[in-house]
Amino acid sequence: MRFPAVCPQCQREVQVEFADSAVHDVTCPHCRARFCVFVRKQKFEVLFDLGTRALMDGYAREAVASFAAALERFFEFYVRSFALERAALQGQTDFGGAADTLESTWRHVASQSERQVGMMALAYLLREGREPDFLTAKALGADFRNRVIHRGYLPRREEVDTYAARVFALIDRLLGELGTGAAHAELAQERHFAAHLAALPDGTTAVFEEHPGMFRARRFAGVSPLGTKNLPGQSARASAPAKTAAPMNDAQAFQKALTERGPLLKGLRK
Ligand SMILES: [Zn+2]
Repeated sequence: MRFPAVCPQCQREVQVEFADSAVHDVTCPHCRARFCVFVRKQKFEVLFDLGTRALMDGYAREAVASFAAALERFFEFYVRSFALERAALQGQTDFGGAADTLESTWRHVASQSERQVGMMALAYLLREGREPDFLTAKALGADFRNRVIHRGYLPRREEVDTYAARVFALIDRLLGELGTGAAHAELAQERHFAAHLAALPDGTTAVFEEHPGMFRARRFAGVSPLGTKNLPGQSARASAPAKTAAPMNDAQAFQKALTERGPLLKGLRK
């Protein structure tokens, strides 16, 4: 996937290939200036946006694969947020140490998604004090996902829409419940950026970017979708004021986000 960046030297547009690390060392093809683009975006957001792009372009199978990967990476984000938040709440002041321990712990589960789901289940139970009811195969749309990804099933557009809406609603709900907890995982990304920044050669310009996306528009760190700050263990829903508008179902919520934020993804290229 590529995204457009502007060269800080000659101001011309440069297509940059999105890196897994979200850190991009670039040499401008026009003026040869060297710069480094840091993209403040989580992996699950990148993947969900990629899925949305694929859906809008009519690539149904690719969209399903990206949405499924986005959900897996979101579970990782949740577990990381929870672990770092818990360390902070326990009075641990060495954030770097906590992040490094988390990093080495994650290696035990990194190559097996089933293990990661296990981590998610426990993290959710400990943080919310409730069963993670969303982890059933039915709630996750696992059967549909497997048919598409592993058995070559060619999905119809409306099936992909339904799946996308389900993944969107689940991530949206869990981000809301995480509330300020999400900031801890974001801080870990900033720390990773800082380490790369410190090692940049002289004369390299650093560029920080925030890309609009399906979730990013709401700046999830610190603010739940309901606009209320929530503490760990306290559900955003429980503290929400009574709503006047009729609640939207998953499909309506996804379509609304697609209409509002889909056009913002136009700059993305496969
Ligand atoms: Zn340039």
